[in-house]
Amino acid sequence: MNTDFKPVICPRCNALIWTGISWAGFARRLDKERLTIEQEIIKVIAGLKTYEAHRTMVSFEAVERSANRIKWATPGKDRVILADHLCSSLALFETLDDAPDYWNLTKYHKPMPQEAQF
Ligand SMILES: [Zn+2]
Repeated sequence: MNTDFKPVICPRCNALIWTGISWAGFARRLDKERLTIEQEIIKVIAGLKTYEAHRTMVSFEAVERSANRIKWATPGKDRVILADHLCSSLALFETLDDAPDYWNLTKYHKPMPQEAQF
């Protein structure tokens, strides 16, 4: 099963979001913004699930976070924590180019300067 998350544009709010199958086997749509522990706790209190993103060759896999894992999270460790997508009430006009590259995965795939289009 392919568990790599892919960027898509939300058809309801036009935000760029991630879609894929979480480790627990559920189809998920995630906001792209990385969360601090404090932000994550606010999401959990609001009833949203949070996920730790683990990088893969092409993007990342999302593993559900439990309350215990949040509570005992190591401060300062460079984790990528994401939450379930909540549609924005703001009008957004994002494109797939807005997909964040948390681990600089595409750094080496970008065209060299002499190949840039003018
Ligand atoms: Zn949306």
